[in-house]
Amino acid sequence: MLIDSHAHVDGPEFDADRDEVLARARAAGVQRMIVIGAVDEPASAERAVALAERDPNIWATVATHPHDAAKMTPDWWAVHERLAPHPRVVAIGETGLDYYYDHSPRAEQQAVFARFIALARTVGKPVVCHIRDAHDDARAILREHRAAELGIIIHCFTGTPEDAAAYAAMGAYISFSGIVTYKTAQPLRDAVRQVPRDRLLVETDCPYLAPVPKRGKRNEPAFITYTAEAVAREVGISYEDLAALTTENATRIYRLPPANPSTY
Ligand SMILES: [Zn+2]
Ligand SMILES: [Zn+2]
Repeated sequence: MLIDSHAHVDGPEFDADRDEVLARARAAGVQRMIVIGAVDEPASAERAVALAERDPNIWATVATHPHDAAKMTPDWWAVHERLAPHPRVVAIGETGLDYYYDHSPRAEQQAVFARFIALARTVGKPVVCHIRDAHDDARAILREHRAAELGIIIHCFTGTPEDAAAYAAMGAYISFSGIVTYKTAQPLRDAVRQVPRDRLLVETDCPYLAPVPKRGKRNEPAFITYTAEAVAREVGISYEDLAALTTENATRIYRLPPANPSTY
């Protein structure tokens, strides 16, 4: 069994064949997934929660991507505040800082990130963080707001091995996406070994970032097997052990109920 710890299967990219995509995931051993309701518009959060309501092996998160931090309105915040306590919502995210694209001014990204950590504290749930080229500022905000008490997931980690070690020292979980399979991503593969085994996660971030050999295609949860193989190789354990380990880790940080095979 594998858990895709970060999937955007709520999105329009999957409207035509969502049921087939979910069936392929299960056939590939991906029995559970976390759907991230945080892309583009408040409707993403609503869609993620709706998916989680109808499928016992899907859970949702809600927030607004740092790209859109500057677009947040009181109504948009109200959607997240209403959905955050929902029993199928297991985390607040993705939120964070993206200084690579800088689609929103950095000060607004920082303020929105801090406010989502506060929302996570209100509902007692962990925070899923999207951090790109902003690791020092991100760690400062996470520390200032004592996010480690809630649980921190650094999703689609793209920092240096030193960044991985610094997050690990804070108690964060670190999630690797298909990028870890890319030929040029040796520093990222080196970072895998900086993460304590009990803090490792794998994800697709689908529909983005399909792993080799699917690179360039629309990504989907079934493709996580390629990423898991690459991470297993770096850690130096079997695919089966890596699958069991990351499943255990995701179950712990997202506080999922024990697996129930009769619902697959
Ligand atoms: Zn992200
Ligand atoms: Zn994402």
